[in-house]
Amino acid sequence: MIDTDVAIIGGGLMGTSAALELRRQQRSVVVLEQGWCGAQASGVNYGGVRRQGRAACQLPLSQRAHAIWRRLEQTIGSDGEYIASGHLKLARSDADMQELIAYREMAAAYGLELELLEAEALRRRYPWIGKQAYGASLCAEDGHANPRLIAAAFARAAEQAGARLLQQSAVRECSFDGNYFVLINSRGERVRSRFLLNCSGAWGKEIAEHFGDTVSEQAIYPNMCVTEPLPPLMNLSLGVVGGAFYARQVERGNVVLGGGRGIGNLALDATRPRASSSFKALAALTEMVPALRNALVIRTWSGVEGETPDHQPVIGPSATTPGLLHAFGFSGAGFQLAPAVGEVLAELVTKGESSTPIDAFSIKRFAVQQPSKEESRV
Ligand SMILES: Cc1cc2nc3c(=O)[nH]c(=O)nc-3n(C[C@H](O)[C@H](O)[C@H](O)COP(=O)(O)OP(=O)(O)OC[C@H]3O[C@@H](n4cnc5c(N)ncnc54)[C@H](O)[C@@H]3O)c2cc1C
Repeated sequence: MIDTDVAIIGGGLMGTSAALELRRQQRSVVVLEQGWCGAQASGVNYGGVRRQGRAACQLPLSQRAHAIWRRLEQTIGSDGEYIASGHLKLARSDADMQELIAYREMAAAYGLELELLEAEALRRRYPWIGKQAYGASLCAEDGHANPRLIAAAFARAAEQAGARLLQQSAVRECSFDGNYFVLINSRGERVRSRFLLNCSGAWGKEIAEHFGDTVSEQAIYPNMCVTEPLPPLMNLSLGVVGGAFYARQVERGNVVLGGGRGIGNLALDATRPRASSSFKALAALTEMVPALRNALVIRTWSGVEGETPDHQPVIGPSATTPGLLHAFGFSGAGFQLAPAVGEVLAELVTKGESSTPIDAFSIKRFAVQQPSKEESRV
């Protein structure tokens, strides 16, 4: 039996960032990962490190994460190719522009500064933007990073800080006796802990329901492409109102772009890109950046992510089981948030509360209202 203060199911960014922070606070930690740490969503995503566009309820957490991204190298020993390049969200119509104007006003209340650019100013500053662009909103300090490097670096940092990482170690059984959780993995090892963190991404619902929590989460498969290396052109991460595409150019010259959905099967652990989604995203991108018209796509892929109906993650205590904490269902936007989620989970373990508001992410929001006896009478 392996005894530990905290057991974590899932070695993606949520699990490993929590493990790292818990080690800093002298808690013993075991991470159980069914495959390899960071090989799922955390390591294959687009790499957008963006606050712009997030719902109001996510902005405090996202701002907290932003502060950690800025000192990432001290935190995990690698910059993971993170650059605060800026994030430019394009409008294609007056209605889009009105949306950006309203968002800017809302975001200002959370300390997020955005600069609005009308068509002429936009093209003067970024001559490579096409004539179809109506305007844009710039978040100068948002940026992008290499998810493969970041996910591996968090796992390595957690291990170096003393967390025990059990890889190729799927949790097959878990139980709670009122004091301790006991997990049994695919290698037959038993782990006993006071706290259990459900950081199992698209598989989060399975674990939550096992403990009687009610939740709605479905698997989604965002579609991704990367082009051949091209001469430097786009010096920031690009998005568009409505989300038809998102794109960034890395230092080596390749343009990474996403948009639409691939296909997959969670039970078989299989994800595939979809050609029609790749073509659509490419068409939407080249409409806004005509110079990329002849760019050659050299690889396409997808990954699996958990999505909730309101597109907000589940973060916080279980509604049924003391000591069980959830962090899953990031709905395609958890990469930027991950370092702050790790800190919040560590606070919940060590202090019993989060210093950043997380009420909007409570699992209790899914609980079906039971009709009263009066109402249930026919
Ligand atoms: C293609 C794609 C593009 C994206 N682009 C962006 C972006 O640009 N910006 C952004 O902010 N977010 C983006 N996201 C979302 C972001 O990647 C995720 O929200 C984030 O990585 C979720 O981290 P996680 O640790 O919750 O999940 P994961 O990385 O999926 O980790 C969960 C882990 O749990 C493990 N696990 C599950 N069940 C068990 C079990 N029973 N036993 C042991 N281990 C188990 C899994 O193997 C997995 O490794 C994207 C996602 C995808 C798929």
